[in-house]
Amino acid sequence: MYYKLQANFLFDPKAGFLPKGIVVLNEEGMIVEIAKPDSYAHQDLQHYKGILCPGLVNSHCHIELSHLKGKLTGGNGLVSFLAPINTIRNTFEKSMILSAMEAAEEEMYQNGIVAVGDISNEAISFDLKAKRRLYYHTYIELFGLENQEAVAEASINKGKEIYAQLPEGLKGSLTPHAPYTVSPTLYHKIDAFNRQIPSPTSIHNQESLSERELFMTGRGAFYDLFLNNFNVDLDHIFDCPKSHSIQYTLGSFPSGNRTLLVHNTFTTAKDIAYAHQTNDQIYWCFCPNANLYIENALPNFELFRQANARITVGTDSYGSNWQLCILEELKVIQKHAPQIPLEELLTWATINGADFMGISDCYGSLEVGKSPGIVLLENVDLENKVLRPESRARRLM
Ligand SMILES: [Zn+2]
Repeated sequence: MYYKLQANFLFDPKAGFLPKGIVVLNEEGMIVEIAKPDSYAHQDLQHYKGILCPGLVNSHCHIELSHLKGKLTGGNGLVSFLAPINTIRNTFEKSMILSAMEAAEEEMYQNGIVAVGDISNEAISFDLKAKRRLYYHTYIELFGLENQEAVAEASINKGKEIYAQLPEGLKGSLTPHAPYTVSPTLYHKIDAFNRQIPSPTSIHNQESLSERELFMTGRGAFYDLFLNNFNVDLDHIFDCPKSHSIQYTLGSFPSGNRTLLVHNTFTTAKDIAYAHQTNDQIYWCFCPNANLYIENALPNFELFRQANARITVGTDSYGSNWQLCILEELKVIQKHAPQIPLEELLTWATINGADFMGISDCYGSLEVGKSPGIVLLENVDLENKVLRPESRARRLM
């Protein structure tokens, strides 16, 4: 038995929009044919109004923070967002955390997400991930700013312990949290571990102006946060490089593995050029709703397009978003950068994310032999190929 689906358009990142194209799938959801409009009798087809596209890839999420939905107030910048997070996240019952993660996964599934790059600080999400309703790559996130062998070693050992708990077959790697929480020694250890697999890694990058201030001057809101909230005087443990944080990161994080830089809200054209020179496997992930939620700012998308950057899209967590929906992220980008064609936005959200995670043999495009999941984009302005506020993504297969 085969499913033959037709809509106003099929979208494939390579082929573009195919008017009235037909995708034929077997019972397991594997594509067996991409057919021309008149290849089958009308009555043999399931018809949909909208665009059929491959399953969406969420390149950056923290599913274990799903219980923080609506708990953290945003809008005042990253530093005031981060200050209470560790206190708040640990005040919940385990059962509540588990059910919040299940609900978050269900929401992602319904919104057409098939694969997730997920940050984990512990193993609490692993049982859910092992059910494989969605494909997950788990980035086990490490901290340790003090540039001491013992500090870095303790952090990497904790990471390896969590990594060892990943159920058979689930992909993962170690990942640094952010420039302002990781030392050069820890970067080197993470990189050495990931090269053995080898496996993609990611880091939060240039999410706030305070980050730049810290790396340029050693002072500012991050300095104050460490001193006042964590009782740490950065003058004693942090050697201010007087450069942008991306130079600190990529200087210690050599090329060789695919690296996803997440957020990039305050990344400049020079930073992009530097990153591309330093590592030819750099990808850039935008999480625009989280940027609006926390900083009320957005990256300059155009700078990345001009540099031919490989771009992906993420939702970030329920700590900093109103929903977990990649289409909602694309709507924000389209609203603020309407010159970017829908075709390009969908490419970021499908094959680019799949390429980064190393799963493009199965996901990211409508090609025979793949099982990418089939998503219907509804209520789209089909004539102009523009998303509307009421557009939505719905998982069909
Ligand atoms: Zn994040």
